Amino acid sequence: MKILVVGGGGREHAVIRQLMESRRADKIYCAPGNGGIGCDAENVPIAATDVAGMVDFAKKNDIDMVCVTPDDPLAAGMVDAFTEAGIPAFGPNRAAAQIEASKVFSKNLMKKYHIPTAAYEVFDTPEKTLAYVRKQNRYPVVIKADGLALGKGVIIAQNFDEAKDAVHTIMEDKVFGNSGNQVVVEEFLTGPEVSVLAFADGKTLKPMVSSKDHKRALDGNKGKNTGGMGTISPNPSYTDAIADECMKTIFMPTLKAMNAEGRPFKGCLYFGLMLTPDGPKVIEYNSRFGDPEAQVVLPRLKTDLVDIFEATINGTLDKIDIQWKKEACACVIMASGGYPGSYKKGLEISGLDQNGQVEGAMVYHAGTLKKDGKFYTNGGRVLGVTCTGATLEEALQKSYTAVAKIHWDGVQYRHDIGHA
Ligand code: ATP
Repeated sequence: MKILVVGGGGREHAVIRQLMESRRADKIYCAPGNGGIGCDAENVPIAATDVAGMVDFAKKNDIDMVCVTPDDPLAAGMVDAFTEAGIPAFGPNRAAAQIEASKVFSKNLMKKYHIPTAAYEVFDTPEKTLAYVRKQNRYPVVIKADGLALGKGVIIAQNFDEAKDAVHTIMEDKVFGNSGNQVVVEEFLTGPEVSVLAFADGKTLKPMVSSKDHKRALDGNKGKNTGGMGTISPNPSYTDAIADECMKTIFMPTLKAMNAEGRPFKGCLYFGLMLTPDGPKVIEYNSRFGDPEAQVVLPRLKTDLVDIFEATINGTLDKIDIQWKKEACACVIMASGGYPGSYKKGLEISGLDQNGQVEGAMVYHAGTLKKDGKFYTNGGRVLGVTCTGATLEEALQKSYTAVAKIHWDGVQYRHDIGHA
């Protein structure tokens, strides 16, 4: 089978590593891929958002199956385009991808179908938003841009001035473009956060093993929110009893709600949860594998990923028994100095072998370039250094031992993944 993976980050590298274990994958392409991915798959220089270009490549190269991973091509209808072309594609169609692409859509869905989430209001002008915030006078308050914003569209304001700045940035400066035409103002929740990814085929939903992200840039959960600085799996806060409760009150109700709205969800549905004193609540949905959650969840998968993709596309997920390894898994993200703010690119990375790996770990490449046999930084998040172990402690210790072997100027990573 010839398989095309759309995207070019650590998450896509983790998907590819899993596909390489499949007895059915003969050739794997990745568009656009990156320096490290190129050691495992064939990079194709097509932008992840180029729907027509991607379909054209797949047709010309007799691709048998596609996995569309990033949020923007999903929201732009890339899966619909592949389906029309008769090429099986893993991922939700455009209508179902709205669950991530619009927070107004997802919040209204949760309200309509009684799925537990933070209380909220939606506004379309800065004046109305700020009048509401002032009247509520309850801080912190959470302000979210409606649309996709590279994980940066959520601001937790500690007082009115911060809320005013957030609203100004989103709705007037339009730093996230049209994603800021509307905002959601949300109640601030507290409690441990859990990420649960699930395979869904529109009828059946199978949760994967749980994980925990570390979103803040610096140790002690300080600094700015990032795309994610490290992950562990399983998430120690997510007990079997909580998992059962989530299945009943959140996961299946969401699948049913999407069906009732005429938007059956097929692909990977991500639940960002907070275990509040009032029970688990949804913080956000993603319509795809989380990054870097995929980097600790997929290495624990025993079942052939191609079989799962196929069952998800064909609606036969109920027929497949998905097995997971008992081992724990930890991923430490190595980022460019300055990330999530501005950073330098093109710095030489030392410590990696010819395949971009170090002994004793799986190194998933997020932002790298390979030139003349050397690897260079080419993004904010650069590498995800991942290990499995009999315990979470062991996995973490192995990951940090591997991290210590890799270096470039200004490299930045958190030292407290799994302990924050
Ligand atoms: P991404 O898609 O990159 O995961 P996002 O921009 O969609 O991020 P959210 O996941 O909705 O953003 O929020 C980012 C983080 O902000 C959450 O992980 C959580 O820590 C915090 N957060 C969001 N909503 C709330 C809330 N209502 N109460 C407390 N914290 C919140």
